[in-house]
Amino acid sequence: MTFAPETDSAPVGRPGPTPGDLARGIGTPATGGARADGVGGVELVEVSAYYRTFRAVREISLRIRPRAVTALIGPSGCGKSTLLRVINRMHETIPGTRAEGAVRLDGIDIYDPRVSPVRVRRTIGMVFQKPNPFPAMSIRENVSAGLRLAGERSRSVLEGMVEDCLRRAALWDEVKDKLKQPGTSLSGGQQQRLCIARAIATEPEVILMDEPCSALDPRATLQIEELMADLKRRFTIIIVTHNMQQAARASDDTAFLTMGDDRAGYLVESGPTAQIFSNPTRQLTEDYVSGRFG
Ligand code: ADP
Repeated sequence: MTFAPETDSAPVGRPGPTPGDLARGIGTPATGGARADGVGGVELVEVSAYYRTFRAVREISLRIRPRAVTALIGPSGCGKSTLLRVINRMHETIPGTRAEGAVRLDGIDIYDPRVSPVRVRRTIGMVFQKPNPFPAMSIRENVSAGLRLAGERSRSVLEGMVEDCLRRAALWDEVKDKLKQPGTSLSGGQQQRLCIARAIATEPEVILMDEPCSALDPRATLQIEELMADLKRRFTIIIVTHNMQQAARASDDTAFLTMGDDRAGYLVESGPTAQIFSNPTRQLTEDYVSGRFG
């Protein structure tokens, strides 16, 4: 992930609500937008996403509970990663793309023209499939990069923050004696926890995870799942996974997507994970979670 410079300041005039404001519980809810319980509730309203003329995601409406883990599951190519990128406005960074519908964080539309996409990405962080520590940076610098870019210069503040984030990412004990070593010198599982530490350093409300364990061995996978269980006390987590056992183990809610004849991904059903896996309402879901297709 690269940290884009914050050149997109709010337009002149009355400053608009920002997700940063949301995090502090101020700002005006979008008209008609129900405020979710607690901070970090995400609501998708008829979200569609396009790559040029191809519609990859079709009219998905979904409420994501705050401070819970929601798994997005479905066959490859049904638009899970695309949907995830729409949720933090990363989709629009790909040329020729656009999104329709509304994405609300705590009732505020993150696509409101007064909301800065840079702030959105800080408030809705992302962890990618392949661990991607900044290659030229030490472990410490990887975690503090966002805060330094935001202008923090105090050494003690930065050091305190680095320790706090590494502790919260369950990595501190393993790296506390080698903070100056490159982030890339760590094992794959450690690198992924470093990326999680980096993501939480900007104090997001929501963390998006795009198949965060697919490059990891079973032990490292389990560590990330345990970490998610801990992090959800503070953050809303949305995870894309192709691993059914992982979705069943690690998530509270599950949304099942599949593709239509037009290859656009749509939502089949969503609900508590236990129900989606043991007693889904739709035959398509039943077939997918029992491994009959996908
Ligand atoms: P999933 O995560 O469920 O595997 P994706 O969101 O990656 O699905 O892809 C959904 C659809 O969008 C697929 O048909 C894929 O080929 C297409 N797609 C994804 N990324 C791009 C891109 N950068 N340009 C064009 N099409 C894309």
